Amino acid sequence: MDFCLEQRRLLLRDSIRDFVKKECASTFVREIDRQAEWPATLYEGLAELGYLGILFPEEYSGVGCDALDLALVAEELSCGCYALAVAYRQSIVLGGMSVALGGADDLKREVLPSVAEGKTTLTWALTERDISSDAGYITTVARPEGGGYVVNGTKMFIYGADRADHCTVIARTSGEPGDRQGITVLLVPLKGTPGISMRPLRKMGTWPVKAFELQLRDVAVPATRVLGTVDEGWSLVRGVLDLEYIASAASSVGISQRMVDDASAYVKQRVQFDTVIGKFQAVAHMVVDMLSDVELMRYMTYRAALMHAQGLPCTKEVALAKLYCSRSSERVGKNGVQVMGGYGYMAEFDMERNYRDSRREAFASGSSLELHGLVAKLMGL
Ligand SMILES: Cc1cc2nc3c(=O)[nH]c(=O)nc-3n(C[C@H](O)[C@H](O)[C@H](O)COP(=O)(O)OP(=O)(O)OC[C@H]3O[C@@H](n4cnc5c(N)ncnc54)[C@H](O)[C@@H]3O)c2cc1C
Repeated sequence: MDFCLEQRRLLLRDSIRDFVKKECASTFVREIDRQAEWPATLYEGLAELGYLGILFPEEYSGVGCDALDLALVAEELSCGCYALAVAYRQSIVLGGMSVALGGADDLKREVLPSVAEGKTTLTWALTERDISSDAGYITTVARPEGGGYVVNGTKMFIYGADRADHCTVIARTSGEPGDRQGITVLLVPLKGTPGISMRPLRKMGTWPVKAFELQLRDVAVPATRVLGTVDEGWSLVRGVLDLEYIASAASSVGISQRMVDDASAYVKQRVQFDTVIGKFQAVAHMVVDMLSDVELMRYMTYRAALMHAQGLPCTKEVALAKLYCSRSSERVGKNGVQVMGGYGYMAEFDMERNYRDSRREAFASGSSLELHGLVAKLMGL
């Protein structure tokens, strides 16, 4: 598998890298985290430069970029401002790609250009209070009524629901609990819609993007807002999650690279016992271990992304990349905090935030154990 990135991909990566270098100053990112403030100016900056729509088809204001391009973007954004990468993934990958892959032409024309311009924001609601890993048991119901659907249910951990104009809601339209047949995906308008309410949830990290319990009570949704095929929504969900897993793995790579860079810079200037601590072999080896973790994570991510881009079967590789990268970034963060000593634990250094934030990847859009289960099944275990 050839990872010599073509000129086109290098240009994309370098232009995002430049954007991040200019706009994501440490002091600024730390402040929006402390204030738990949505990264509005950064998100608008991405829209102005045309990065929000790159995954969408050309006829809907997109560029038709593939999964490897997505990995490069998610990696660079996560290196500079992980919360911005999360905001991007929530609206563009989970929300936007649900519409791009499953929406009717009129709906795509209505929603995607506006998402690409940053005027419309989307989110995604699969998880419920009591049902997550075993998604076939979801209890949110979409009942056919008056040519459309009436949705009832409660969704849990919904990131960015306060900002989102529409939410991809996964609901049961027929079948038995446990059955993945009978599931339908709907694009539900959130702003000003009767029957929608939200309860904010406090959490460990990614403070700029808030999480909510989202309640839907008799929410009327027109049939034109069905994404994919009625009762057969699970294949759309899987298709979107494959892209999100690639973005997740790439985010782990980006945030881990940042933790290596910060640890490396720190140990080169911190002096103890009249010696810069990076000269102590034990410290240097920890930083090298961090780097070797990141290199392997990147390899797995690009391989899975390239397989996806080439249209090869890659569910196993994609799941393994997310699984391995989320676990490895935890190790990278743990070592990063350790080599910085007490300062690694202090909020005035980025390591503290990045360590907290990086833990998100072990749960969001599928826990590590869930992914073990998926891969074990694919291995026939
Ligand atoms: C930060 C964050 C953001 C999120 N954002 C969203 C969002 O925007 N939209 C959305 O829909 N969801 C979102 N989620 C939900 C996320 O997808 C779920 O947390 C995830 O699917 C795991 O579900 P759970 O937390 O309920 O764990 P559970 O399903 O209750 O599992 C608990 C533990 O048991 C393990 N486990 C479960 N079943 C098995 C098994 N058969 N064998 C072995 N171990 C098992 C799990 O891996 C986990 O470690 C988010 C979650 C987090 C933490």
